[in-house]
Amino acid sequence: MNTSLFDFQRTPINLVVSLVLVLTSFAGLAIAQPAPVQAPRPPIELYSAQDLGLAQQGMATAIKSELAYELIASLTTEVGPRPAGSEADPKAVAWAEAHLKALGFDRVWTEPVQIDAWRRIAAHADLVTPYPHHLAVTALGNSISTPATGLQADVAYYANIDALRKDTSDRARGRIVFIDGTFARTQDGGGYGPAVSARVNGAIEAGKRGALAVVIRSIGTDQDRLPHTGAMRYDAAIAPPIPAAAVSTPDADLIRRIATTPDRSTGQLAPLRLSLNLQNVATRNLTTHNVYAEIRGQAKPDDIVAIGGHLDSWDLGTGAIDDGAGVAITIAAAKIILDFGIRPKRTIRVILFGNEENGLDGARSYAKKYGQQRHQLASESDLGADRVYRLHTRVDEKTRPWLKAIADVIAPLGITFGDNNATGGPDFGPLTNQQDHPVATLAQDATRYFDIHHTANDTLDKINPTQLNQNVAAWVAMVWLAAQADHDFKPAPRKTP
Ligand SMILES: [Zn+2]
Repeated sequence: MNTSLFDFQRTPINLVVSLVLVLTSFAGLAIAQPAPVQAPRPPIELYSAQDLGLAQQGMATAIKSELAYELIASLTTEVGPRPAGSEADPKAVAWAEAHLKALGFDRVWTEPVQIDAWRRIAAHADLVTPYPHHLAVTALGNSISTPATGLQADVAYYANIDALRKDTSDRARGRIVFIDGTFARTQDGGGYGPAVSARVNGAIEAGKRGALAVVIRSIGTDQDRLPHTGAMRYDAAIAPPIPAAAVSTPDADLIRRIATTPDRSTGQLAPLRLSLNLQNVATRNLTTHNVYAEIRGQAKPDDIVAIGGHLDSWDLGTGAIDDGAGVAITIAAAKIILDFGIRPKRTIRVILFGNEENGLDGARSYAKKYGQQRHQLASESDLGADRVYRLHTRVDEKTRPWLKAIADVIAPLGITFGDNNATGGPDFGPLTNQQDHPVATLAQDATRYFDIHHTANDTLDKINPTQLNQNVAAWVAMVWLAAQADHDFKPAPRKTP
């Protein structure tokens, strides 16, 4: 962590309440604010003084709260890794239901979600020639197994998936395709989108060229010797399914070095040969659950501010940053609002989605059931627990001032107002694909997220409680003010593809 939570230089001048005052006084808004003569009505005044005061109070409570951290500690300790369809899956659902009920939400319930489950049994990979090395490898989610005795073949090395896509030769046939690549470390995690195609589509591209298996460089920004798992897919209409795995980035470096550096004595590239043994089990038509909690709105109970994270995780770590954090941040924010003792105008709905990781099934189920319901705002937390630095939206331009006003309220947390291209998070993708809804993203600092994402290193110790609570504070203000706004937020017009 090298960033200050409280970046006062970014604080808009029309916001006189600094976080110091928030922390020491709940009466921040009573402080006189000298309005410039003839200036337009500042956006912050789009909310009532009482609602702004409660937002400030909620932020101050969040900064001191231990709830979010305790929730992640409890979930990762008592349930641990919880892939959809695993033995831990119903334990996670029961954990969520029990905690939400104990916190006193108006309504807590679950809804069944149909899934296809997948489970890894074992993964082994060795570089056989030119130099024997045992590799740190993991199967990609949904991968079929190799034969029980494994398979061994020469490697066809590709610098990235585009190089594989462009290959019209027979080079991959009968070989193990290795897909290398790069993943740029950025604050917004924007390198993930371009990089992840190798994981998702690599088996299809290699399979249709006759490869026996595909192995990729882990989709991660770290140099730890821990492979990153994650979902991949097959398309039977395009290519036969082949086993798919990822090696750690240092192992990928080893393969790259040998595959691209001519041997000193021969001046030739030495052929690489890999052995691979993956054993996995797929089970179709199981049931997991979405878990819901609501604070019922008084004035507009059918108008929803929908927030949440995904309850499932991959199996290698304990799912602390992905997505115990999102679960805990949104539950804790809603609980702080619940404790205001004043019912919001609109209903605040916390959704803990099932099977985000391996199919977005809970998200699709939610969209199907609630897609026609009016959403005032939909926003998921699913990028870890490091601090929020920007509020992005995707709303009609006429609604933007109400979101800008929220950005002004959370500015003392070091958060600026962003663009109007937010996704709202993966689990609200199906909802907004189906029909337009207003969405927001509290963009988290993802600089170190993809070091840990989908690895055995996704554990509780990676959670920084101070940054976690900064998230909760931002969520409290955004959710509360969205629920209270005198304006029904309007969705951005659908983009024509
Ligand atoms: Zn996630």
